[in-house]
Amino acid sequence: MSTAARKIRLLMLLRRNGVTDVHVLRALELIPREAFVPGPFQDQAYEDTALPIGHGQTISQPLVVGLMSQALEITDRMKVLEVGTGSGYQAAILSKLARRVYTVERHRPLLQEAEARFHQLRLHNITARLADGMKGWPEAAPFERILVTAGGGAEPPPDLLAQLAPGGVMVIPLGADRRGQSVVRFRRTDTGIDREELWPVRFVPLLPDIAGEPARASGG
Ligand code: SAH
Repeated sequence: MSTAARKIRLLMLLRRNGVTDVHVLRALELIPREAFVPGPFQDQAYEDTALPIGHGQTISQPLVVGLMSQALEITDRMKVLEVGTGSGYQAAILSKLARRVYTVERHRPLLQEAEARFHQLRLHNITARLADGMKGWPEAAPFERILVTAGGGAEPPPDLLAQLAPGGVMVIPLGADRRGQSVVRFRRTDTGIDREELWPVRFVPLLPDIAGEPARASGG
């Protein structure tokens, strides 16, 4: 089966499973997932499955990328923060939906590979950096949308909530252990923050600091 045929088959599967937003479907059609998948897994680029990208991390399952992108309710005027660049695939999808994408990764080699892909695909509205995404991106805040693509504790990191603009939406996998995670949507309203459980999911863990570069003790 040709790449084009595999891609159409995957898009139909995603639509059957709830990805119905035409902008999200178009973004999934435009971004070549094979460019984000390591060589040995090329033949699986259009299967609905997460795949290894090194450093114990994975490129997310296409259905999860589609549903999370849709849950964010992005428009092309918005500035979006993604935590967990990984392969860069989710950021590339977001770049077709939003005005500007900021994405943060804690593994330097993954970040560098993702940046090379953004450059090669001419996705010029993505800015990526090596940092602990739990702290957000204070200089670029506030964000109309925040997407966390690594799973964490029971509550979202406070710095991320603080960087959410009025009316802003954050989508994040939460849950203490990997079996018990679900995608949760937070919305900043006039009166506070609304919380909505969306669906069960399993993500690689959200971890503090930059990998292999432990935080320096202050005053040392
Ligand atoms: N969005 C990615 C897949 C995410 S995998 C894609 O489309 O390919 C989760 C990523 O989050 C991993 O690369 C992991 O290193 C990163 N990560 C985990 N904790 C982080 C943190 N605190 N700050 C930045 N990145 C983090």
